[in-house]
Amino acid sequence: QALLAVQDLSKVYPNGYEALSNVSFSVQAGEFICIIGRSGAGKSTLLRCINGLVPISQGSIRVQGTNVASLSDNQKMLLRRKIGFIFQEFNLVGRLSVFQNVLTGRLGYVNDLQALFGYFGREHREKALSCLQRVNMSHRANYRADNLSGGEKQRVAIARALAQEPLILLADEPVASLDPELSWSVMGDLRKVAKEEGVPTLVNIHDMETARHFADRIIGIAGGQILFDGTPDQLDSAT
Ligand code: ADP
Ligand code: ADP
Repeated sequence: QALLAVQDLSKVYPNGYEALSNVSFSVQAGEFICIIGRSGAGKSTLLRCINGLVPISQGSIRVQGTNVASLSDNQKMLLRRKIGFIFQEFNLVGRLSVFQNVLTGRLGYVNDLQALFGYFGREHREKALSCLQRVNMSHRANYRADNLSGGEKQRVAIARALAQEPLILLADEPVASLDPELSWSVMGDLRKVAKEEGVPTLVNIHDMETARHFADRIIGIAGGQILFDGTPDQLDSAT
C-alpha cells in the first residue's frame, strides 16, 4: 500500500484560477522524489494541498490508505504533525535557540517558560540533539537561530522536521535561497537523512541539474498537470 496516494486532485483558488488539474501519483516508502517545473507550475500548491494548508477542490489525498477528507479536524491536526514541512525561507523562530527550534518540531510549540528555563523532558532533549547531530549542527545548539547562515538555518529546519518523526517530508524549494554550492550540500544532507530514516520525501525544485543528481524519481509539472513521472534516466531518454 502506498504511503501517499494523490488521486485526480484539482485545486481551484477562490479567484477561479485552476492551479492543479487531475493530478495523480503515489509515493512508496523511502522514495526521494523531486518535483520540477517553472515558477507558477503548481508545485507549491501541490505540497500545500498534501499538507492541508490549502483545501482541495476535487479528488482525494490518502495517507497510509486513509482519505484525509474523512478525518475529523482533530485527526487532521494529528496527521499534520506527522508531515514534516521544509520552507524556502526556513521559517525558524529567530529569537529561539537552535535547540529550542528543533524542539518546536517535536512538541508543536515552545512556550515562553520553556524558552526561558530551557526545561524539556529528557526524551525530547535527546531526540532533538540526535536530530541536530544528523545534520552536523549540534555545535550550534545554543546559538540564536537569527545568528545562523542560510545553509545552517536550513539544516536546522531539516532537524526540526526530523524531530517530528514524520511519515513523510515535504520540502518547498528548500535550496532556492542558497548559493549553488551550498544548495548542493544541503540537498545532500536532506537526501541522506531521508534515506537513513526511510522517510519518503517530496522536494520542489526548479533546478533540473540538482533534481537529476539527487532524485530517485522526478515528477515534472507544467500548467497544473503532470507531464512526466519517472527516473532521471527515463527523463534523459524522453528528452
Ligand atoms: P509554483 O510553486 O510551481 O511556482 P504555485 O503553486 O505557487 O506554483 O502557483 C501556481 C499558480 O497558482 C500560479 O499561477 C499562482 O499565481 C497561482 N496561485 C497561487 N496561490 C494563489 C492564490 N492564493 N490565489 C490565486 N492564485 C494563486
Ligand atoms: P538578545 O537580548 O540577545 O536580543 P533575547 O533576550 O531575545 O536575546 O534571548 C536571549 C536568550 O533567550 C536566547 O538564547 C534565546 O534562545 C532565549 N529566548 C528566546 N526567546 C525567549 C523568550 N520568549 N523567553 C525567554 N528566553 C527566550
